[in-house]
Amino acid sequence: MTRTRSSSEIRDASRREVVRALVVGGTATRTDLARSTGLSAATVSNLVSELREAGLIADAGTDNAGTGRPTTVLRIDGEGGSFLGIDVAETYIRAVVFNAALTEIGAADVDVDEAWSSVDRVADALLSAVDQALDRGGRDRDEILGVGLGLPGIVTREPWGAASPHGWASHIRELEERVRPHLPTPVVTANPLQAVGHSEIWFGTARGRSSAVVVNLGTGVGAGIIVEGRVLRGATSTAGEWGHTVLELDGRTCRCGRSGCVEAYVGVPGIRHTLEEVDAEHDLLRLHQRDFVHGLRDAVDDPAVVETLARTARYLGIALSDIVAVLNPEVLTLTGWTAWALGHALLPDTRAALAERAPELTAARLDLGVSPVRVNSVATGMAVLAFENHLDSRALARRTRPRTAPIVSVNPLPPPPLPQTPQPIAG
Ligand SMILES: [Zn+2]
Repeated sequence: MTRTRSSSEIRDASRREVVRALVVGGTATRTDLARSTGLSAATVSNLVSELREAGLIADAGTDNAGTGRPTTVLRIDGEGGSFLGIDVAETYIRAVVFNAALTEIGAADVDVDEAWSSVDRVADALLSAVDQALDRGGRDRDEILGVGLGLPGIVTREPWGAASPHGWASHIRELEERVRPHLPTPVVTANPLQAVGHSEIWFGTARGRSSAVVVNLGTGVGAGIIVEGRVLRGATSTAGEWGHTVLELDGRTCRCGRSGCVEAYVGVPGIRHTLEEVDAEHDLLRLHQRDFVHGLRDAVDDPAVVETLARTARYLGIALSDIVAVLNPEVLTLTGWTAWALGHALLPDTRAALAERAPELTAARLDLGVSPVRVNSVATGMAVLAFENHLDSRALARRTRPRTAPIVSVNPLPPPPLPQTPQPIAG
């Protein structure tokens, strides 16, 4: 069912456009902003006043280049507040503090064990990463205007207990319950696919594009799907689980419990499986995931590695051709730590397989490459989501009230309902 957007939703979207234009462009006059966002001059003026009052926009001098009177050049006031982006991945947790211009000012990584043997340990690691990042960024908790918490597996806005083929749900619920009281507020949660979509819209290859797909390659794989300039969430906020679409009928067992999934071929454990098929005794098979991937990157003259990468590129290209056939995107971008390490080695064969498989014309104008957003696209995307949440009318109104106003937590997720039956993690 479709519904029309309310006037406050339209205003919130316009406010995000103005802020995004300034964050990405650095400086702009009101006229520049009206031109780049397509908003009316009056709307831009109005929003700029409001954002200035909220401490997010400051003057950056005057522009005398025009024939008329000098106009004020605007910029984001980096000191107007800070945001925290947290990437909870399956092998590490990274917390990054950004200033209001979304420039990284402090970051910390903590490794976690792949089996998630204890939620308490992961929670402690997460809170320790947050403390270290705040410390390195020189920010106190009360300077944080919002936290974006990216959680692996499937995060929904539905009550907990909504089906998750990963079996992650019970872990995620426990983890979130453990850490939420200890994080600055408000906290916004999303899955990494939505985060990478947002980071690519703000800073990467999807800027100004109507349709794009951002493929996140790591232990797990998935796709952030951008349609008409917006990240697709889906009915239960789980859009983009392309990693669990079928690449080979009755193929390899996936950790989701089904067989033949894309992830079982192009996720890191899948690439390891391919190397095992090529050379079961290979030295790289003794390494943990990150070292394994870096070992592949550095062993370009090793015939077994060459064969493994060629097969992986072919799997990837064929799997991507399905996305391209369905969505016909302008841009298809590979991101995530595996893509940064192996993307350029995979691209030629991936491109060839995609061109061979994608239905005629669907890939004719496709721009396929590796994302320029390198620091951490999930943490960046989560900070963007926290910022966008802060820019909503209610949050902004709260911010512009006198400093004595009580701090109220905004929680976009409903409270957790009764526990669901935990599901074992396959593989
Ligand atoms: Zn699967």
